[in-house]
Amino acid sequence: MQETIDLIAHRELRNLRRFTRETGQPTKLAELDLEPIINVQSIELDEEHVTIKYNTKTERRYNANEITHKEWVYKYNDDPEFVEALKRVIDLSRKHQYDLPENVACPPGCAECCSGYEPFVSRADVQRIADHLGMTYDDVMSEYVVKRESADGYNVGWLRKVDEKGELSEDTTHKCVFLMGPKSGRYYCGIYSARPSDCGAFTPIGCEDVDWKLPRHGTYKAGKPFEPKRKGPLKTGRRTGAAKNGRRPK
Ligand code: SF4
Ligand code: SF4
Repeated sequence: MQETIDLIAHRELRNLRRFTRETGQPTKLAELDLEPIINVQSIELDEEHVTIKYNTKTERRYNANEITHKEWVYKYNDDPEFVEALKRVIDLSRKHQYDLPENVACPPGCAECCSGYEPFVSRADVQRIADHLGMTYDDVMSEYVVKRESADGYNVGWLRKVDEKGELSEDTTHKCVFLMGPKSGRYYCGIYSARPSDCGAFTPIGCEDVDWKLPRHGTYKAGKPFEPKRKGPLKTGRRTGAAKNGRRPK
Protein backbone atom coordinates (compact mmCIF):
# COMPACT_ATOMS: atom_id res chain seq x y z
CA MET A 1 0.00 0.00 0.00
CA GLN A 2 1.38 3.39 -0.91
CA GLU A 3 0.16 6.87 -0.20
CA THR A 4 1.68 10.11 -1.40
CA ILE A 5 1.65 12.76 1.22
CA ASP A 6 1.33 16.36 0.26
CA LEU A 7 3.72 18.12 2.59
CA ILE A 8 1.57 21.20 2.47
CA ALA A 9 -0.96 19.21 4.48
CA HIS A 10 1.62 19.18 7.24
CA ARG A 11 1.11 22.88 7.70
CA GLU A 12 -1.19 21.91 10.50
CA LEU A 13 1.68 20.48 12.49
CA ARG A 14 3.73 23.60 11.84
CA ASN A 15 0.77 25.69 12.93
CA LEU A 16 0.52 23.68 16.10
CA ARG A 17 4.19 24.23 16.84
CA ARG A 18 3.88 27.92 16.12
CA PHE A 19 0.98 28.03 18.52
CA THR A 20 3.21 26.43 21.14
CA ARG A 21 5.98 28.95 20.52
CA GLU A 22 3.67 31.90 20.63
CA THR A 23 1.52 30.91 23.55
CA GLY A 24 3.85 28.77 25.64
CA GLN A 25 1.17 26.10 25.67
CA PRO A 26 2.55 22.58 25.11
CA THR A 27 2.05 20.84 21.79
CA LYS A 28 -0.12 17.92 22.68
CA LEU A 29 1.49 15.03 20.85
CA ALA A 30 -1.09 12.74 22.33
CA GLU A 31 -3.62 14.46 20.20
CA LEU A 32 -1.66 13.80 17.01
CA ASP A 33 -2.01 10.53 15.20
CA LEU A 34 1.58 9.27 15.31
CA GLU A 35 0.70 5.62 14.99
CA PRO A 36 1.73 5.36 11.31
CA ILE A 37 5.35 6.30 12.03
CA ILE A 38 5.94 4.21 15.11
CA ASN A 39 7.70 1.46 13.22
CA VAL A 40 9.72 3.12 10.50
CA GLN A 41 11.80 0.47 8.75
CA SER A 42 13.61 2.47 6.11
CA ILE A 43 13.91 5.85 4.50
CA GLU A 44 15.02 5.85 0.87
CA LEU A 45 15.94 8.84 -1.20
CA ASP A 46 16.05 9.08 -4.96
CA GLU A 47 16.16 11.99 -7.34
CA GLU A 48 12.48 12.80 -6.98
CA HIS A 49 11.06 11.10 -3.96
CA VAL A 50 11.62 10.24 -0.35
CA THR A 51 10.02 6.92 0.47
CA ILE A 52 9.44 5.98 4.05
CA LYS A 53 8.46 2.41 4.72
CA TYR A 54 6.79 1.67 7.99
CA ASN A 55 4.77 -0.88 9.86
CA THR A 56 6.13 -3.90 8.04
CA LYS A 57 4.54 -7.06 9.30
CA THR A 58 5.48 -10.59 8.41
CA GLU A 59 2.76 -13.14 8.67
CA ARG A 60 4.11 -16.65 8.73
CA ARG A 61 1.95 -19.31 7.26
CA TYR A 62 2.66 -22.84 6.29
CA ASN A 63 5.40 -22.71 3.65
CA ALA A 64 4.88 -19.00 2.99
CA ASN A 65 5.51 -15.62 4.54
CA GLU A 66 3.32 -12.72 3.64
CA ILE A 67 4.98 -9.35 4.14
CA THR A 68 2.75 -6.36 4.41
CA HIS A 69 3.96 -2.82 4.76
CA LYS A 70 2.87 0.73 4.24
CA GLU A 71 4.83 3.43 2.53
CA TRP A 72 4.74 7.16 2.40
CA VAL A 73 6.19 8.80 -0.67
CA TYR A 74 7.05 12.46 -0.38
CA LYS A 75 7.40 14.31 -3.63
CA TYR A 76 10.30 16.72 -3.54
CA ASN A 77 8.69 19.71 -5.13
CA ASP A 78 6.07 20.12 -2.49
CA ASP A 79 8.27 21.94 -0.04
CA PRO A 80 11.29 23.99 -1.17
CA GLU A 81 12.94 23.95 2.27
CA PHE A 82 12.57 20.22 2.49
CA VAL A 83 13.94 19.81 -1.04
CA GLU A 84 16.97 21.88 -0.16
CA ALA A 85 17.63 19.88 3.00
CA LEU A 86 17.31 16.60 1.13
CA LYS A 87 19.61 17.74 -1.63
CA ARG A 88 22.23 18.43 1.00
CA VAL A 89 21.69 15.00 2.54
CA ILE A 90 22.03 13.34 -0.87
CA ASP A 91 25.16 15.32 -1.72
CA LEU A 92 26.66 14.41 1.64
CA SER A 93 25.80 10.74 1.15
CA ARG A 94 27.41 10.75 -2.28
CA LYS A 95 30.50 12.44 -0.89
CA HIS A 96 30.80 9.95 1.92
CA GLN A 97 29.71 6.81 0.18
CA TYR A 98 33.25 5.49 0.19
CA ASP A 99 33.84 6.39 3.83
CA LEU A 100 32.42 3.13 4.99
CA PRO A 101 33.87 1.60 8.12
CA GLU A 102 36.73 -0.79 7.54
CA ASN A 103 34.78 -3.75 8.83
CA VAL A 104 32.52 -3.70 5.79
CA ALA A 105 35.32 -5.77 4.27
CA CYS A 106 36.02 -8.93 6.22
CA PRO A 107 39.49 -9.09 7.74
CA PRO A 108 41.35 -11.60 5.60
CA GLY A 109 41.42 -14.97 7.30
CA CYS A 110 38.33 -14.42 9.46
CA ALA A 111 35.69 -16.81 8.12
CA GLU A 112 33.99 -17.05 11.53
CA CYS A 113 30.75 -17.26 9.60
CA CYS A 114 31.87 -20.50 7.94
CA SER A 115 31.23 -22.14 11.32
CA GLY A 116 27.78 -22.12 12.81
CA TYR A 117 26.30 -21.35 9.42
CA GLU A 118 24.95 -23.99 7.11
CA PRO A 119 24.95 -22.89 3.51
CA PHE A 120 22.05 -24.45 1.65
CA VAL A 121 22.90 -25.96 -1.70
CA SER A 122 20.80 -26.24 -4.82
CA ARG A 123 21.30 -28.82 -7.54
CA ALA A 124 23.25 -26.20 -9.51
CA ASP A 125 25.54 -25.58 -6.51
CA VAL A 126 26.24 -29.29 -6.09
CA GLN A 127 26.96 -29.69 -9.79
CA ARG A 128 29.31 -26.68 -9.77
CA ILE A 129 31.21 -28.08 -6.78
CA ALA A 130 31.32 -31.51 -8.44
CA ASP A 131 32.76 -30.02 -11.64
CA HIS A 132 35.26 -27.99 -9.63
CA LEU A 133 36.50 -31.00 -7.68
CA GLY A 134 36.32 -33.41 -10.61
CA MET A 135 33.80 -35.56 -8.80
CA THR A 136 30.37 -36.84 -9.64
CA TYR A 137 27.23 -35.10 -8.48
CA ASP A 138 26.28 -38.14 -6.43
CA ASP A 139 29.68 -38.37 -4.73
CA VAL A 140 29.52 -34.71 -3.69
CA MET A 141 26.04 -35.29 -2.35
CA SER A 142 27.05 -38.28 -0.29
CA GLU A 143 30.38 -36.92 0.98
CA TYR A 144 29.79 -33.23 1.55
CA VAL A 145 26.06 -32.57 1.74
CA VAL A 146 23.56 -33.24 4.51
CA LYS A 147 20.60 -34.21 2.38
CA ARG A 148 17.38 -32.37 3.16
CA GLU A 149 15.31 -31.29 0.22
CA SER A 150 13.39 -28.04 0.69
CA ALA A 151 9.63 -28.04 0.28
CA ASP A 152 9.89 -26.39 -3.13
CA GLY A 153 12.60 -28.83 -4.20
CA TYR A 154 15.09 -26.04 -4.93
CA ASN A 155 17.63 -26.86 -2.24
CA VAL A 156 18.82 -30.40 -1.85
CA GLY A 157 20.55 -29.99 1.52
CA TRP A 158 23.37 -28.07 3.21
CA LEU A 159 27.14 -28.38 3.39
CA ARG A 160 28.56 -30.69 5.98
CA LYS A 161 30.83 -29.73 8.85
CA VAL A 162 34.09 -31.22 10.07
CA ASP A 163 35.32 -31.49 13.65
CA GLU A 164 38.77 -30.53 15.01
CA LYS A 165 40.22 -33.82 13.75
CA GLY A 166 38.91 -33.19 10.25
CA GLU A 167 36.26 -35.90 10.56
CA LEU A 168 32.96 -35.29 8.78
CA SER A 169 30.34 -34.11 11.22
CA GLU A 170 26.78 -32.89 11.30
CA ASP A 171 27.36 -30.62 14.29
CA THR A 172 26.38 -27.17 13.09
CA THR A 173 28.91 -25.43 15.33
CA HIS A 174 31.80 -27.13 13.54
CA LYS A 175 33.59 -25.68 10.56
CA CYS A 176 32.44 -26.03 6.99
CA VAL A 177 33.95 -29.07 5.29
CA PHE A 178 35.53 -26.79 2.67
CA LEU A 179 37.06 -24.30 5.11
CA MET A 180 40.86 -24.35 4.96
CA GLY A 181 43.61 -22.91 7.17
CA PRO A 182 42.89 -24.24 10.68
CA LYS A 183 46.62 -24.65 11.44
CA SER A 184 47.56 -21.04 10.73
CA GLY A 185 44.29 -19.69 12.12
CA ARG A 186 43.91 -17.66 8.94
CA TYR A 187 41.06 -19.27 7.12
CA TYR A 188 39.92 -19.29 3.52
CA CYS A 189 37.33 -21.07 1.44
CA GLY A 190 38.86 -24.08 -0.30
CA ILE A 191 36.34 -23.99 -3.15
CA TYR A 192 35.97 -20.24 -3.42
CA SER A 193 35.16 -19.98 -7.13
CA ALA A 194 32.62 -22.79 -6.85
CA ARG A 195 31.17 -21.95 -3.43
CA PRO A 196 27.39 -22.17 -2.99
CA SER A 197 25.31 -19.17 -4.01
CA ASP A 198 24.26 -18.93 -0.38
CA CYS A 199 27.89 -18.19 0.58
CA GLY A 200 28.36 -15.78 -2.33
CA ALA A 201 25.30 -13.82 -1.23
CA PHE A 202 26.45 -13.59 2.39
CA THR A 203 27.16 -10.00 3.36
CA PRO A 204 29.59 -8.81 6.03
CA ILE A 205 27.57 -5.63 6.56
CA GLY A 206 26.54 -5.56 10.18
CA CYS A 207 28.44 -8.75 10.99
CA GLU A 208 28.94 -9.16 14.72
CA ASP A 209 31.13 -12.24 14.53
CA VAL A 210 34.13 -10.51 13.02
CA ASP A 211 37.47 -11.77 14.36
CA TRP A 212 38.98 -8.50 15.55
CA LYS A 213 42.40 -10.06 16.29
CA LEU A 214 43.18 -10.34 12.61
CA PRO A 215 45.11 -7.57 10.88
CA ARG A 216 43.26 -5.78 8.11
CA HIS A 217 46.25 -4.57 6.16
CA GLY A 218 48.79 -6.22 3.92
CA THR A 219 48.26 -8.84 1.29
CA TYR A 220 46.64 -12.12 2.10
CA LYS A 221 47.63 -15.26 0.33
CA ALA A 222 45.19 -18.11 0.49
CA GLY A 223 46.83 -21.54 0.60
CA LYS A 224 46.16 -24.53 -1.59
CA PRO A 225 42.59 -25.28 -2.57
CA PHE A 226 40.50 -28.05 -1.03
CA GLU A 227 41.22 -31.50 -2.38
CA PRO A 228 38.88 -34.43 -1.89
CA LYS A 229 40.30 -37.43 -0.04
CA ARG A 230 39.49 -39.69 -2.92
CA LYS A 231 40.61 -43.28 -2.92
CA GLY A 232 40.77 -44.95 -6.28
CA PRO A 233 39.31 -43.82 -9.57
CA LEU A 234 36.23 -41.65 -9.88
CA LYS A 235 33.00 -43.45 -9.36
CA THR A 236 30.48 -43.22 -12.14
CA GLY A 237 27.38 -41.22 -11.41
CA ARG A 238 25.11 -38.71 -12.97
CA ARG A 239 26.35 -35.47 -14.48
CA THR A 240 30.12 -35.86 -14.38
CA GLY A 241 30.97 -32.53 -16.06
CA ALA A 242 34.62 -32.25 -15.12
CA ALA A 243 35.33 -35.89 -15.63
CA LYS A 244 33.77 -35.82 -19.07
CA ASN A 245 35.81 -32.77 -19.98
CA GLY A 246 38.99 -34.44 -18.81
CA ARG A 247 39.51 -31.82 -16.09
CA ARG A 248 41.32 -32.82 -12.95
CA PRO A 249 40.68 -31.55 -9.46
CA LYS A 250 42.52 -28.34 -8.67
S1 SF4 B 1 33.83 -10.49 9.27
FE1 SF4 B 1 31.88 -11.59 9.55
S2 SF4 B 1 31.14 -11.93 7.49
FE2 SF4 B 1 33.32 -11.46 7.32
S3 SF4 B 1 34.37 -13.46 7.38
FE3 SF4 B 1 34.29 -12.68 9.49
S4 SF4 B 1 32.45 -13.59 10.36
FE4 SF4 B 1 32.27 -13.77 8.14
S1 SF4 C 1 31.74 -23.20 1.10
FE1 SF4 C 1 33.40 -21.81 1.52
S2 SF4 C 1 32.44 -19.85 1.91
FE2 SF4 C 1 30.85 -21.39 2.07
S3 SF4 C 1 30.77 -21.91 4.26
FE3 SF4 C 1 32.16 -23.35 3.27
S4 SF4 C 1 34.20 -22.46 3.49
FE4 SF4 C 1 32.70 -20.86 3.89
